Amino acid sequence: MVNPWAVEFWRIVGLLSVALVIGLIAGHGLTWVVVALVLYLFAHLRNLYRLERWLQGAAGFLPDTGGIWGEVYYRLHRLQKRNRKRKKRLSAMLSRFRESTAAMPDATVVLDADGAIEWWNDAATRAFGLRYPHDTARPLTNLVRHPDFHQYMGRGDFSGPVQLRSPVDERIVLSIRVIPYGKNQRLVVARDITRLHLLEQMRRDFIANVSHELRTPLTVIAGYVESLADSDDACMQPWSQSLRAMQQQSTRMQQIVSDLLLLSRLETDGDEREEEEVDVPGLLGMIRDDAIALSQGKHSIGLEAEPGLWLSGSRSELRSAFSNLVYNAVRYTPDEGTIEIRWASHDGGACFEVQDTGIGIASHHLLRLTERFYRVDVGRSREMGGTGLGLAIVKHVLMRHGSELQVDSEPGKGSTFRCVFDAGRVIRSAVAASQAQ
Ligand code: ADP
Repeated sequence: MVNPWAVEFWRIVGLLSVALVIGLIAGHGLTWVVVALVLYLFAHLRNLYRLERWLQGAAGFLPDTGGIWGEVYYRLHRLQKRNRKRKKRLSAMLSRFRESTAAMPDATVVLDADGAIEWWNDAATRAFGLRYPHDTARPLTNLVRHPDFHQYMGRGDFSGPVQLRSPVDERIVLSIRVIPYGKNQRLVVARDITRLHLLEQMRRDFIANVSHELRTPLTVIAGYVESLADSDDACMQPWSQSLRAMQQQSTRMQQIVSDLLLLSRLETDGDEREEEEVDVPGLLGMIRDDAIALSQGKHSIGLEAEPGLWLSGSRSELRSAFSNLVYNAVRYTPDEGTIEIRWASHDGGACFEVQDTGIGIASHHLLRLTERFYRVDVGRSREMGGTGLGLAIVKHVLMRHGSELQVDSEPGKGSTFRCVFDAGRVIRSAVAASQAQ
């Protein structure tokens, strides 16, 4: 390929030589060389002017010329062609992306760094009632006014979804998730989970109804079995062992039914229950006495409770949760073991802890412990009179009190069940504290 710079060089050498020869013939050699240089410079200035006009967009086409400028124009032309192709490809990609996002069944809204709406798909129009172009650049929180959504967006922790009813249709339940991307931009994705919600509701209602329906017949059966077992009638003698077994099983069934009822109440009752001031040290004193009775002196059961450290919540629910944890410690700790119950201030809030020197739990069970009917050892749980629902109840009660269950355990060494309540729930009762001193 010919080097354009070499061509340009020979061009200028040729021009100057011709000017010099003509100048020498005419008797003004230098003048002709200067004139040739000025013309050469003028030609460059003209090309520069054309280029500048073209860059400004005033000229549609690049001029067709030779020499070094021809080469520059040719390269610019190629660059322009390549850019046009790339732009076409990008816009095709963008429209494909928009089409696919628009076709998505999940509502999708793109928010800028200030939380204002940049773009949304058709499903978002249906889910949030967004109108184009009216709602463009408006904050999404101005359009979805649900307090849970405001709290979720304000918290900035988008690890989990938030559930709420569609602002357009109360019957639609949405699970909304925020995905941060780019420079503080956010993608809001809302999924219609109405069917799932209804199924969940049906499941809860079914369990509540079945438990409720079973309660009365069970009470009657248990009553009869008890009177027969307690009867002194000699003809009942051969049946005494079977009757005791029946009595034990009916008591267990009653316990399961009452735990199931409690669980469905915890699940279905909203957060609108009445808050009480719960004297936790006093409550734990009672639970400890019950635990001692359950243990029948086979364990050492200690209680350290900070006087005056009360909680705002439901007394009966907290009693259920704390007693389940303490009774489990008694049931899963062999004789002569030690159980420590602690209640103390913790990081401005309060911490409840039950530590035992019992059989412990292998780490792979820990994540599933709070599932209904999940037991590490089914036989042992039944033998101990367990229903497999205790920790599920604990989980729900704690959730309703803004806390969660933490478990540390080592098989053969023992377990520690802990829950931390935040400062907002803690009440410091000066009267109770001074009484305790
Ligand atoms: P259960 O009525 O069977 O005790 P829970 O829901 O209370 O049901 O507990 C679930 C399972 O967790 C139990 O079956 C038991 O295997 C295990 N578990 C609970 N507490 C303890 C503990 N303190 N030590 C060892 N295992 C425990």
